[in-house]
Amino acid sequence: MGKVNRYEFEGEVIEVPVYWDDHLQREVEDYEDYCKQPGHTPSGRPILLTIEDACPHAEMVDDDPASIDCGSCRHYHQFPGSLLGVCDNEKRRKKRRSRGSGLTQANKEETLCEND
Ligand code: SF4
Repeated sequence: MGKVNRYEFEGEVIEVPVYWDDHLQREVEDYEDYCKQPGHTPSGRPILLTIEDACPHAEMVDDDPASIDCGSCRHYHQFPGSLLGVCDNEKRRKKRRSRGSGLTQANKEETLCEND
């Protein structure tokens, strides 16, 4: 496994791969997987980019009409120095089942990165 940045949220460790960017001449985090297939913490909390479109369960920290993304929501906890963070909204937590895919139809739809 390559190099990763490690973050902790509520006792859970989240690893984000990093790679060397020749243009920037520094290591940067690789967010590709988080958009293709949003990650979750082991307890099912979504790991999202701060620029993700806000979901219907958003509770914005202010009434600014420009607040349209997760980064403006009080449920979003951004990792220091990263564009990723964790959503602590219980309505967004991925439910697990003992059989099948582990997802209900409702939360399958809510785990799609670009449709949140
Ligand atoms: S509730 Fe979670 S997914 Fe929805 S806007 Fe807030 S941080 Fe984003």
